[in-house]
Amino acid sequence: MASKTETATEPVGEREGADKSPQAVEEAKREADVQGAPKPGQRAEVTNLEIVHHYFNQAADLLGLPDDVRTVFWEPYREVTVQIPIKLSDGKVHVFSGYRIQHNGARGPYKGGVRFHPEVDVDEVRALASLMTWKTAVAGIPYGGAKGGVNCPADQLEQPELQRIARSFMDRIEKVLGPTRDIPAPDVNTNAQTMAWFMDEYGKLHGHTPAICTGKPIALEGSYGREAATGRGCVYMFREAAPHLGMAPAETTFVVQGYGNVGSWAARIMQQLGCTMVGASDAKGAIRNDGGIDADALEEFIKQDGKLPEYEGADAIEPDDLLAVPCDVFIPAALGGMIHEGNADRMQCKVMVEGANSPTTPAADRILNEKGVYVIPDVMANAGGVVCSYFEWVQNLQHFRWDEREVNDKLGNIMRRAYREVSTRAKQERLPLREASYLVGIERVVEAARTRGYI
Ligand code: NAD
Repeated sequence: MASKTETATEPVGEREGADKSPQAVEEAKREADVQGAPKPGQRAEVTNLEIVHHYFNQAADLLGLPDDVRTVFWEPYREVTVQIPIKLSDGKVHVFSGYRIQHNGARGPYKGGVRFHPEVDVDEVRALASLMTWKTAVAGIPYGGAKGGVNCPADQLEQPELQRIARSFMDRIEKVLGPTRDIPAPDVNTNAQTMAWFMDEYGKLHGHTPAICTGKPIALEGSYGREAATGRGCVYMFREAAPHLGMAPAETTFVVQGYGNVGSWAARIMQQLGCTMVGASDAKGAIRNDGGIDADALEEFIKQDGKLPEYEGADAIEPDDLLAVPCDVFIPAALGGMIHEGNADRMQCKVMVEGANSPTTPAADRILNEKGVYVIPDVMANAGGVVCSYFEWVQNLQHFRWDEREVNDKLGNIMRRAYREVSTRAKQERLPLREASYLVGIERVVEAARTRGYI
């Protein structure tokens, strides 16, 4: 198994003029490891690709998918790797690698986010691309699956540097993109601003094309509700499951691992429902307060450049101890592989709603199942973002705009439908939701590929 032990979003080399190349960042991280620098939680020894392949294989076995058909979905359809040389504020040229990987397009144009993170590598992007294929199928929206990434240390770069990286990446991959071919969106460390740069750069070559990417700012034909959609979708999933699990929101406590876009929106919307947040973390550390942490106040504190562990309304704790905070719902919303064999046993929750992609390794998944934790898996739980991206694309193609209530209502309909379809299948086959969701997703993609005559 590949070794992957460090999450590394903790800033390294923040000195002015520090070398920000991937090599230098790696070296700084290794140095920090040697010095035993505190790390905010650890990721597992399995890679995201191994996680996704494991779940795919498990479902393919249950479906009796022949080997030749399996091979088609094992590998991506197209992989583009590009070099992005950028002169940074230290006056040096830094060379980053960019990837756009299109996994399967049987059900429609490729769709998936782009992340900027020093740990981005081709295997991680492959894993995330195939997850998108199953996710769009489970949600029942007419897309295939893709993903992109650039291995830059986004949290150490200035806005003009990020802009140059975004534009340069778009220039190099635009030939495989298009509103009917492949439509990027935001992911870790990219946001509406990044999408604005993508759209503008694409427009220089092809004319104004808002449907080239989603997650854009409202001022540039973005959709109302998109920013909150992934977190909101997680909450819709919890709401759908809660009555069957005998849980009432007013008595529900929850913990969020990764207080970024997905995590903070999930927290704020859970709070609107009446639930109480008792723990949270980000790359800088973790906090706990059994009496409740105000999700809106914490978001505002971070927005004003506050560091999460210094938030006054809670006690700072070791990031690893966040998993052991007793709660009803645990929402992993950071990076992949954070819940693994070495820490799953510590978890005290009844329900886990996977906001992040591949947060749980197969070994951890088994432990959680044995402990009776009800896991709502990433492939359905965090589909809200891509569903709302689909709405944005539909609005862009028509140059028309829905109001936020309409977007949220439509999002709720699709998320509820996905939950019911998967949970019905899970009951029929006596399977956990994760396996049932892969069955549903894979079947839909195989059917589309067969009907088209691809396989
Ligand atoms: P983000 O960059 O806004 O937030 C990520 C958060 O995780 C940050 O607060 C960061 O500090 C924190 N983090 C990083 N390392 C950590 C660690 N070791 N311990 C605790 N926290 C840590 O990214 P996002 O868009 O919210 O994405 C989060 C996850 O959700 C990713 O796995 C992403 O692929 C997935 N996802 C995002 C979307 C979307 O629409 N943004 C959609 C589907 C899935």
